Amino acid sequence: MSDCLFCRIIAGEIPSKKVYEDEQTFAFEDINPQAPTHTLIIPKKHIAGLKEAKPEDDALLGHLQLVAAKLARERGIENGYRTVLNVGPGAGQSVFHLHLHLIGGRKLGWPPG
Ligand code: 5GP
Ligand code: ZN
Repeated sequence: MSDCLFCRIIAGEIPSKKVYEDEQTFAFEDINPQAPTHTLIIPKKHIAGLKEAKPEDDALLGHLQLVAAKLARERGIENGYRTVLNVGPGAGQSVFHLHLHLIGGRKLGWPPG
């Protein structure tokens, strides 16, 4: 989707700090980090958000989580990190290409805001 910010990041049309890529996923540093580690893991396939995901996307959604776990292991933040999907504007979703936040490297409060 040429008008989607994250599709354009995947295509390299908008620069990003890439941290990981495989056939199905792309991961890069969030431009406005909320913690020492704040990485976004996204599917290369355009899916607007969790609400729009289809039954055939189940393995892909699981894969995003496992990529987050791998990055967390590599970063040495396994004492405590969070993977977050903001779903819908009421939960703060501002980019409508599904993205998993990996947040860690500091004490994380609960419940989240
Ligand atoms: P949301 O609020 O939709 O869950 O998360 C969107 C995230 O994308 C935010 O944390 C925001 O800082 C990040 N973001 C927005 N635009 C860009 C961009 O152009 N580059 C990068 N690297 N991150 C972005
Ligand atoms: Zn997209």
